[in-house]
Amino acid sequence: MILLTPGPTPLPPCVSQALSRPVLYHRMREFSKVLSYTVSGLGYVFKTKNTVLVQSGSGTSAMEACVVNLMSERDNALVPTCGVFSDRWVRILRAYGVKPRVIEDEWGNPTSCDKVLDELKSQRGRSYKAVFLTHLETSTGVINPVRDISRIIRENSNALVVVDAVSSAGVDPLETDGWGIDVVVSASQKGLMNAPGLSFVALSQRAWKAVETSSSSRFYCDFLTMKSYMKNFQTPYTTSTSLVAGQAEALGLIRAQGLENVWRKTARLAVFARGELKRLDFKFFAKSPSSGLTAFYLPPDIDGEKLIFHLADKYDVHIANGQQGLKNKILRIAHMGYIGEKLLREGIAALEKSVKEIRSKREEPHGSKK
Ligand code: PMP
Repeated sequence: MILLTPGPTPLPPCVSQALSRPVLYHRMREFSKVLSYTVSGLGYVFKTKNTVLVQSGSGTSAMEACVVNLMSERDNALVPTCGVFSDRWVRILRAYGVKPRVIEDEWGNPTSCDKVLDELKSQRGRSYKAVFLTHLETSTGVINPVRDISRIIRENSNALVVVDAVSSAGVDPLETDGWGIDVVVSASQKGLMNAPGLSFVALSQRAWKAVETSSSSRFYCDFLTMKSYMKNFQTPYTTSTSLVAGQAEALGLIRAQGLENVWRKTARLAVFARGELKRLDFKFFAKSPSSGLTAFYLPPDIDGEKLIFHLADKYDVHIANGQQGLKNKILRIAHMGYIGEKLLREGIAALEKSVKEIRSKREEPHGSKK
């Protein structure tokens, strides 16, 4: 199988092996060692000295946990949107009675720093408790200028900077502490090269103050409880111990290669993928593309779903359709995590053949079917 979707991504063999090792009990000392290695590896990848929490559940569960731990009903939040995942912040915030002000940018474009600045300088600007950002907007392939936006927020307000780095951690340059990010959220199944099911949150001192004062009800995902257990490298409840063991292996690989080298390798792969897709005459969607995936327009004569099924059935190659309004308009190919040049070359060659096969089938005269 050639898995080129922007999450889940293929697993390195050492991660698959870790997942199939005997299950650990979550109160064993051996598990605490694995968890300790994992959280220090996550700190390395997020470039933060802050405590990292590990939660069972996919990225959205950590996004929801951030909202419920940081915000109280009727708080004000600012959310710049430019795709499905930045919209998700808005939907979660509304679900908890928080009032998000939305700054929209067209899908395919990055968030405009000027719009954020103008909003923060307005009268309303001072009332935001937090700004919720999306680093890599996976639905469009856009990387947002989080470093600049974070600086603008810090210089013009007291709002917390909360960043969804679900698909950008270990993919595109990200410096949590260096860029003044208060809360970073990520998940296991993309650049972090593990199976789906774990998510991670790192919080600054300012963010912990907000957690202490938030009046939202919560139990399972209460960050203060998680933090108190994390002091001894434990989790309050039974966590996904096998996934944590898999994560430790994957983070070991990133450490061994060096994070900056991983970023450089991913950027080189992006250039390679785009060169191959350009040769096939595909046009690109994202105005400010991430290194982690390429979103490209479907040719008008090809149905996206048909192409995806053909690729899967005939070649066992898996790529992603566009989401929501972009379904059957764009396709997305990932080049993050353990995906390398060989897989990409084979996947794109199968894409080329599939397009030709779909076209030639259509051109067969009626009655020529076998
Ligand atoms: N944010 C971003 C940027 C994502 O790419 C995703 C997953 N595609 C999510 C949030 C949601 O994560 P999950 O599917 O793991 O809940």
